[in-house]
Amino acid sequence: TTADIGLIGLAVMGSNLALNIAEKGYTIAVNNRSPARIDEFVTMAKEQGLAGKVIPKADLAEFVQAVSRPRSIIIMVKAGAPVDAMIEQLLPHLEQGDAIIECGNSLFTDTQRRFDYLKPKGIGYLGAGVSGGEEGARHGPSIMVGGSKEQWHNAEDVLTAIAAKFNGESCCAYLGEGGAGHFVKTIHNGIEYGDMQMIAEVYGVMRDGLGMAPQACADVFKEWNRGPLNSYLIEITGHVLAAIDEPTGKPLVELILDKAGQKGTGVWSAIAAQQMGVPATAIEGAVAARSISSRKDERIAAEKIYGKRSAGKADVTLADLEQALLAGKIVSYAQGFAVIAKASDENGWKLPLSTIAKIWRAGCIIRSRFLDQMAAAYAKGDNANLLIVPDFVTLMKENHGALRKVVAAGAVGEFPLICLSAALSYFDSYRQAQGTANLIQGQRDFFGAHGFEIEGRGKDLHGEWPSTLGN
Ligand code: NDP
Repeated sequence: TTADIGLIGLAVMGSNLALNIAEKGYTIAVNNRSPARIDEFVTMAKEQGLAGKVIPKADLAEFVQAVSRPRSIIIMVKAGAPVDAMIEQLLPHLEQGDAIIECGNSLFTDTQRRFDYLKPKGIGYLGAGVSGGEEGARHGPSIMVGGSKEQWHNAEDVLTAIAAKFNGESCCAYLGEGGAGHFVKTIHNGIEYGDMQMIAEVYGVMRDGLGMAPQACADVFKEWNRGPLNSYLIEITGHVLAAIDEPTGKPLVELILDKAGQKGTGVWSAIAAQQMGVPATAIEGAVAARSISSRKDERIAAEKIYGKRSAGKADVTLADLEQALLAGKIVSYAQGFAVIAKASDENGWKLPLSTIAKIWRAGCIIRSRFLDQMAAAYAKGDNANLLIVPDFVTLMKENHGALRKVVAAGAVGEFPLICLSAALSYFDSYRQAQGTANLIQGQRDFFGAHGFEIEGRGKDLHGEWPSTLGN
């Protein structure tokens, strides 16, 4: 028998994806650098009654031979150099028309480079972003595919079968050429950073401004999960806040050190946005907040200098916080989707914004009811900034007042709201017909003769600035 598909890299993600594929009835050949992992995987497959669908091959040549042509071979190894090493090892064994499907968290420019490298060799290259962690990989992730369209069709059935479903629709789609899939996955993660940070900021107001204990906060998140904020992240936030540390009997969240880790996709999102000149201040704020969080020693020292902030009573209600979170979320998604739209234009990817919102509705970390509304709004046609899409205009009109109130309370009460305040400032900048860059242009012309424009009189005009300044 030959396998429908092959998979290399049987660590957490690869083994769960492979089990998922086998469970959907496909025969899968598997390989891993260290053979011990192959044995462990076979044991796992046996325990789950799936061994009959698995062809384990420790030898790479035999592994490739076991996959039916044209071959689709998933690689799920550590991102970075191991992916390039794996491609080089595979190449001598592949034949024209075969394809590599790389499913790790790769930098989209690396994916683009690998796609360009393999194209003239007649080997297809698909870069697929997979979200949903271990559980998602096993039972249904969101899969964002980019790369060789022709070879996508060879793997389409398998990938759409293993992905999460939302109202019966698969959360897997081909999005565009080259690095498009990994680019979209990167921005997914950037948006995820923003969602998480805004939730953490609201938790901060509850804890320090409203004096709420973790269990009381947990109850609020549980309640919010039944409303417009309904989402995986709001749901798990409730569980995290409710958890009790067994040995001490204390709320676990109060024992966890306030230093956040990051693996790079938030930074990549912010860099991509900056490089294309698209403001993504909510994502940038979220990345900055994680960086500040990691500098615990500096924060302790600074608190000694400035004093502990007064544990004031924030002049906000829980309803204000819920609405502020919704408004902040709309701004953050507006920014993330604007970054995707610009990247699509620059790279000729023709990224379908509606489809992207659709395949994020289930399986991935940012899955939510909200994304269903977004998918519906974008399905109506243009790829405009979400802030001017009619349904979301209504929502913003209803909720930006609360965002304003919460950000103001944060400023007065000394609660840092990096992400929520960035979202509010972006909204206020975006919606003002008359800004203040006229002054910037004056300054630039003063010191650098960069020129400015006056309507009706033309561009590249200069001011008669004083040539010497008094002291
Ligand atoms: P790891 O990132 O820990 O990678 C381990 C796997 O890579 C092992 O199979 C290992 O083989 C293999 N490997 C490492 N270096 C090489 C090499 N030079 N040549 C061949 N194989 C090599 O595994 P994960 O399952 O955690 O993640 C896989 C990918 O999925 C990563 O890109 C990760 O970022 C991404 N991802 C992970 C998620 C998660 O929740 N963990 C979520 C979403 C994406 P060996 O056994 O021989 O050491």
